[in-house]
Amino acid sequence: MSDINYLKRLFKAYYKEKSSEIPSLSSFENREFGYIPWDTKTFMKRHMSFKVQEQFLTHLINEGPRHIYSSGAIYKQPENQNMEGKEYQGCDFIIDIDVDHFYTPCKEDHDFWYCKECGESGVGMVHSCPNCKKLKIKTLAWICDRCLETAKREIIKLIYNFLIPDFGIDLSNMKIAFSGHRGYHLKIENQQIRKLTSSERREIADYIAGENISLELLGLQEKSGTFYSFSGDTYGWAQKIIRKISVLLKKSDLELRDLLLNKENFNFSKNYVKGFMNSKQDFINKIENHNTFALPSVEGFGLANWKKFFNGIIHEVGVEIDTPVTIDIHRLIRYPGSLHGKTGFKTQEILPDELDDFNPLDEINKKLDPIVFESKVHTTQKVEILEKQVPATKIKGKSYGPYTQGEIIEVPHHIAVFLLCKEVAKTI
Ligand SMILES: [Zn+2]
Ligand SMILES: [Zn+2]
Repeated sequence: MSDINYLKRLFKAYYKEKSSEIPSLSSFENREFGYIPWDTKTFMKRHMSFKVQEQFLTHLINEGPRHIYSSGAIYKQPENQNMEGKEYQGCDFIIDIDVDHFYTPCKEDHDFWYCKECGESGVGMVHSCPNCKKLKIKTLAWICDRCLETAKREIIKLIYNFLIPDFGIDLSNMKIAFSGHRGYHLKIENQQIRKLTSSERREIADYIAGENISLELLGLQEKSGTFYSFSGDTYGWAQKIIRKISVLLKKSDLELRDLLLNKENFNFSKNYVKGFMNSKQDFINKIENHNTFALPSVEGFGLANWKKFFNGIIHEVGVEIDTPVTIDIHRLIRYPGSLHGKTGFKTQEILPDELDDFNPLDEINKKLDPIVFESKVHTTQKVEILEKQVPATKIKGKSYGPYTQGEIIEVPHHIAVFLLCKEVAKTI
């Protein structure tokens, strides 16, 4: 049996066994469904609908799809092949946070890329080939508990720093899910929000991400050689920025220095950082004295550097969301409780109060555990590594690998399923 057939059979068996645990959706019969089968790599079958959830579960058991999605939108005729004919009624507000789309330092350890144009290869995150500048990049992006922790922190920021205080969204309207791979998504189900147009969604997305914030409009200005900030005794971004500055100034000198030197954000030169550190105490005094918004005088700091500093703060405060997902009202998103075909992990819904402790790669609460193929009797499987280099995989507190091409390894069932889903190994 080919590995594809083997995985398909496993997925079918999972759906058969767990069908009663797969959650339903609101307005189920008005959602569009789409799936990616095992036998083809690119083709997604869309424009499906199901009158009741039982029909959908039967479909899962019969097909055992590699990936299955449903629309954030609700339609009068979700099965209509044309978008215009679907009779759009509104769309949930969806926010996707996925480490595929933002920098994490540990990618230098576990993400590989290879240029199909010139053959150059390397580690970390690149968008185009550093050698030939072409975009034909093949990447091997790995799962990692540090990356997932970062993504989770972004979701927490999103909820408690933006959705609740700035938009008044009730926690009970939010549905959070671990994607089953490298991120999380959050869905807001609320009648008013469903009516938002795509451009209104973009405005909200930009606000949350901290895009296009005008520091001048907030109040940053220069008057006879002194720079003035704005009050933090307000709400929205001005308050967030000032609060963040207070927090950062209280960090140790070493931490603050590292942060300001960090190439991925502030990226100040050593001399500027030295000047900034010399004025740190003055800055703390000024920020604690709410009557004056004068910024300290820092050696080498003109308007350009102050803007660079404030933009760095904005980057720290903003949430790393994947904006195209939020503004696309016809987007399909992974169905909760379904399996992710690149990992064999479950897309796991989590309640807001479960989020803090949730640890997708080593979850102790069985009900929330996305690693569904962990065998109770500790069966192992032999597989051969196909990919040149496979990074170490840490699941359930145990590390497997790194491996290289041609290696034959014997690993627990859930690790074998993961490596097969990732297409970096084959059964022997
Ligand atoms: Zn290249
Ligand atoms: Zn990582």
